[in-house]
Amino acid sequence: MHSTRRLICWLGLLGALLTGCQLRSTPSPALQPPPKGALQITFFDVGQGDAALVQFPNGKTMLVDGGPPESASALLGKLRQLKVNRIDYMVASHPHSDHIGGFVKVLGAFPVGEVWDSGFVYDSPVYLDYLRAVKRRGAKFRTVGKGYSLAPAPRCQIEVFAPSKPFLRGTRSDANNASIVMRLRFGKVRVLFTGDIEREGRARLYRQGADLRAEVLKVAHHGSYNGTDMALLNRVRPRIAIISCGFRNIYGHPHKEALQALQRAGVTVYRTDWHGDITVRVQDDRLQVFTTRNAPPPAATPIAPKGSFAFVGNRISKVYHTPDCKGLPKPENRVYFRTREEAEQQGYRPHRACAGN
Ligand SMILES: [Zn+2]
Ligand SMILES: [Zn+2]
Repeated sequence: MHSTRRLICWLGLLGALLTGCQLRSTPSPALQPPPKGALQITFFDVGQGDAALVQFPNGKTMLVDGGPPESASALLGKLRQLKVNRIDYMVASHPHSDHIGGFVKVLGAFPVGEVWDSGFVYDSPVYLDYLRAVKRRGAKFRTVGKGYSLAPAPRCQIEVFAPSKPFLRGTRSDANNASIVMRLRFGKVRVLFTGDIEREGRARLYRQGADLRAEVLKVAHHGSYNGTDMALLNRVRPRIAIISCGFRNIYGHPHKEALQALQRAGVTVYRTDWHGDITVRVQDDRLQVFTTRNAPPPAATPIAPKGSFAFVGNRISKVYHTPDCKGLPKPENRVYFRTREEAEQQGYRPHRACAGN
């Protein structure tokens, strides 16, 4: 790069870091392919779940999580709108269905180069469907963890910080704490992907001395209280944060503890439940943010959505419930089913109070 231009870029970045004045958010065009030379990340509104597409300046693509099964068709439409015709890297941060549920349809619709998996084994129908679809597609299955790195395009670097072996056991959610945590760097801009990592998994990262600094943070675990705290924000020091969660989701995400910490740290927050699809574009070391929706909707109070997934099983008791049941199992014991038949084929019986006939 010509030295004058490099200086201007550097000054631009410095200005942006100091004042945030280069950051612009406009209600469109969030779902447009990136211009030449830009890196673009689109955080999709997939309801309660995570799915983000990275489009590298050399045309390569990476899909970080695929959202829940019920958003898969919409996700395919958005990928096509972004002119995607191949997924080079498909990253399954961890095996929960709100992260891998959409992968079966994506694997059926697009050529996929390789699949990155945390290696955390899970016994749910959605997870097994995903493994079968990877095999059918003939994609390379790669288990990645701490220390793995890749340069997918010029000036682009990906470093994986987690998970480490052995996996943490006996935490609130061992699957969440085994999430792939990785940082993407393009020039001077860094983006941290955190999956659903919780307190115990983060504590391990701190002990390992991982350099988590990033301008953009994908907030862990949909803005749960256990995904964000000041200890994390002091290490990452993000300018902008993306929360991926469903409108009026049953978990009450994002939790006020996470929102308060982000506010205290002076971070600009975008949420898929309010802003829709959120595109972060990086060009010449400058950040731009585009969203498909503008204003937050009024009175966003948590209400159980009807029919977003059909049944929730408890893998310990082998009882299945409707999603609005008062007696839902603890999150780490939940298994999701698309139909009653699927639950019963797996040896689950209905909870009389909610799912009994
Ligand atoms: Zn999740
Ligand atoms: Zn999870």
